[in-house]
Amino acid sequence: MVMSSDPRQPIPLSVPWITGNEAAYLQECVDTNWVSSAGRFVKRFESDMAERLGCAHAVATVNGTAALHTALMVAGVRPGDCVLTSTLTFVATANAIRHAGAWPVFVDVDPATWQIDAGLVADFLAAECGIRDGALADRTTGRRVGAVLPVHILGHPADMDPILAAARKYDLPVIEDATESLGATYRGRTVGNLADAACLSFNGNKLITCGGGGMVVTDRADWAERARHLTTQARRDDIEAIHDEVGFNYRLTNLQAAVGCAQLENLDERLTIKRRIAAGYRDFCAATPGLTFMPEAEWAGSALWLSTILVDPDVFGCSRYDLLRILAENNIETRPLWQPLHLSPAHKGARVVNGTVAEKLHMQALSLPSSCSLTEAEQGRIYSAILAAPAKMAQ
Ligand SMILES: *Cc1c(COP(=O)(O)O)cnc(C)c1O
Repeated sequence: MVMSSDPRQPIPLSVPWITGNEAAYLQECVDTNWVSSAGRFVKRFESDMAERLGCAHAVATVNGTAALHTALMVAGVRPGDCVLTSTLTFVATANAIRHAGAWPVFVDVDPATWQIDAGLVADFLAAECGIRDGALADRTTGRRVGAVLPVHILGHPADMDPILAAARKYDLPVIEDATESLGATYRGRTVGNLADAACLSFNGNKLITCGGGGMVVTDRADWAERARHLTTQARRDDIEAIHDEVGFNYRLTNLQAAVGCAQLENLDERLTIKRRIAAGYRDFCAATPGLTFMPEAEWAGSALWLSTILVDPDVFGCSRYDLLRILAENNIETRPLWQPLHLSPAHKGARVVNGTVAEKLHMQALSLPSSCSLTEAEQGRIYSAILAAPAKMAQ
């Protein structure tokens, strides 16, 4: 029997894909009574991930935001500093900067990749900053530049080589926000192993999930040690409860890590499915005037986490705002890209470097259902609903 997709059945944007050893590993946690922050799965998850990315060290955390906060502290970002990041990212990237007491400088994105514009990063450091008290500082605000935090959004890598070259000139640490791009490659190298450290998220909608979770990965032993220290309440002694600074309880539990280990086992299968889903949407967009599939640079191997399209309202006959609403009426969940963070009330007062490219993308971009469990019948239903949308506008 050919399965067709029931139009009343909701098609979610991105849901977990649980098909492997998750239940068996969870059962082992329960059977052995190792459910909390110690246990074999936490260690295994860290070493499996380090091996997968080719990094020397990995420190699991309670979520991706905590991983970012930890990595920034470990990189030496101090209260009052500024940190360069993309204006087109999930708010957690910027929140982590603020948690560290620093201020984001929101850099616009490159229209060719939708990722942080490497040229603007280099320009800002060269033209807007100068040496003050022996450190590079933003001349307008006086804030020391603490780090550069490029984000690989939607599965696609940022153009890292020119960012690294610009940062190295001033000895600035570079941290990758790789939370959306596990499994991606940049010029044949592994995303998550391109800079001083990288942060991962295992939230429910990410490429792999622990329910919730995160990780800091790095080649630097001293950074890994400090990350472990800060995420475990800065305890100095295994026996005595002596703490040498104010730390955090940012640990991942063995239950969560058990799920993460199982999820990581079939990462390659997930990436293959994501590529198949994206290929379908790409062909569909190519055949539909007014719709454009998200870019993939020739130097990029995108993880294609969330298939996202641009809707040109004049050509397509319906804006992404209306398309979102009409698809929702058809039980199809879609999502716009984030409000560019230089416009966010949460980060009022932060510096911005241009921002107009992100604003335009925000007005036209729509992320489409991209779960690994998405069937071809469901994807066909999505195409039909999209094609029918402009006529619904005319009614
Ligand atoms: C998901 C995400 C995070 C935060 O991860 P959590 O695990 O939800 O805390 C940070 N940055 C980006 C770009 C993300 O997409």
